[in-house]
Amino acid sequence: MSKSELAVFLSRLERFTSSKLKLEQYETDSEIAAEVLWQAFLMKEIENRTVADLGAGTGILGIAALKLGAKKVFFVEKDEDAIDILKRNLKKTKGKYEIICSDIADFDKRADIVIQNPPFGTKTKHADKPFLEKAFSTADIVYSFHKESTESFIKAIAKDNNFKMTHHWKFDFPLKQSQKFHKKRIQRIQVGCWRLEKNKKT
Ligand code: SAH
Repeated sequence: MSKSELAVFLSRLERFTSSKLKLEQYETDSEIAAEVLWQAFLMKEIENRTVADLGAGTGILGIAALKLGAKKVFFVEKDEDAIDILKRNLKKTKGKYEIICSDIADFDKRADIVIQNPPFGTKTKHADKPFLEKAFSTADIVYSFHKESTESFIKAIAKDNNFKMTHHWKFDFPLKQSQKFHKKRIQRIQVGCWRLEKNKKT
């Protein structure tokens, strides 16, 4: 499967019908998901690896990992409506997975890689902090999306947890929101995806 075939497949997945603002369900765009998963795949971090998708939503990141040959994917999501959609999306692909319907705080499995697009903390300040901390205790390699403006904050949490940033991709995230306060139908915000890696013991 090529990167563009992956993007087309992902663009056909079912998405949230109504975004729940409180949970900050800003879904990853299919082109962006394909780009990041492809990079991870090229770094040999997907095929035959166990992946955890924290705050999986409708599953685009974890499903992309399954498409690229992940050994197993944990989908961790607390919103039951999202899980209904996730289950329908999973029927469109093969591979081994486990759906964990709970708060990420209760997830206690280990994985090779975490790939996550957590809430950005726009409504609840630093809502992404528990996601980063959970990711760091789950795997030694983490791909995580955050608002560009929070880079120094992400870096500081990584350092506190003995992780370092190795890669950084920048995207204009389309927010297809219909909330009244959004004047334009499609707004864009600058989002970064960072690859974070645990420091080796010396
Ligand atoms: N990863 C998906 C969804 C991103 S939106 C994508 O990339 O498209 C963030 C998701 O995190 C939402 O589905 C929301 O319900 C979920 N979420 C937020 N807080 C959570 C928590 N504490 N535990 C589990 N899931 C959570």
